[in-house]
Amino acid sequence: MNLFRLTALLLFLFLTFNLAGLAFADELVVYSARKEHLIKPLFDAYTKETGTKVTYITDKEGPLLQRLKSEGKNTRADLLITVDAGNLWHAANVDVLQGVDSQVLAANIPANLRDPDNRWFGLSLRARTIVYSTERVKPEQLSSYAALGEADWENRLLLRTSKKVYNQSLVAMLIAEYGEAKAEQIVSSWVGNLAAPPFANDTSLMEAILAGQGDVGVVNTYYFGRLLKKNPELKLALYWPNQESTGVHVNVSGAGVTKYAKNPEGAVKFLEWLSSEQAQNLFADANMEYPVNPKVDAHEYVKSWGSFKASEMNLAKAGELQSDAIKLMDRAGYR
Ligand code: FE
Repeated sequence: MNLFRLTALLLFLFLTFNLAGLAFADELVVYSARKEHLIKPLFDAYTKETGTKVTYITDKEGPLLQRLKSEGKNTRADLLITVDAGNLWHAANVDVLQGVDSQVLAANIPANLRDPDNRWFGLSLRARTIVYSTERVKPEQLSSYAALGEADWENRLLLRTSKKVYNQSLVAMLIAEYGEAKAEQIVSSWVGNLAAPPFANDTSLMEAILAGQGDVGVVNTYYFGRLLKKNPELKLALYWPNQESTGVHVNVSGAGVTKYAKNPEGAVKFLEWLSSEQAQNLFADANMEYPVNPKVDAHEYVKSWGSFKASEMNLAKAGELQSDAIKLMDRAGYR
């Protein structure tokens, strides 16, 4: 082999291994409890913009968390994406997430929508609000979550099961706002007004209102949006309660950098991008949610449901008070 060939070979080897090294540094592994069709477009957009390869698996919350715990230091996951502050708090609490220090995230995401210790960050916002039959209810008859327990709504209220984290978070936030005794009185009064046993999901609850089984209920905004998209003549509307007091109960989908991330810098960069003005609509609009970044407007379709004052209580409370909320709902007979 002459010197020229040897140099060429060495150069080839150097470039190959160096590029392989670079490719590794630019790979991000995501565990997501959020469904593939909601997150893949984001990953694709990020890869297109930055060249970072995003590998992911999707599963339910429980198995993903279990997997992260059992993999420990050996995990390939850099980032956990999931829904509901209760779940994010729980992930942080079982110590599979790490705190990150980012001025960008602090600037883009309101403080009440992220962990005070920066282990998780809300990336899209949904409201858990009142839905009513436009045939049998006038919006003037509604006022607050608590008022759904008043005599006017006897045998007219529908709720989703208390097993769902969304309702556990809702009740946890009621405890944070009103204290345990008052929150329990509210939940008991709801149970007393139920027109049917709790539903398995928000959509079947709304279908039951349409079928005349009840007149009002509590649902996440995007489920209403999905139903409305299928049927623009839907005889249902959203109502924004607690506008004179604590504001509408909101929650987030969000993410955190895993404790044993192999590429924590890359994971933070991706989170920063997700919270940015350019990516917030991509993330929120896919599921008809609201951006968390106050500089970004919701999609026109979502905005058409009206604007509201949201609760400003830190969502970490949804996690901290979750077990109290579950016990409270049990005592109140909310199944
Ligand atoms: Fe949902």
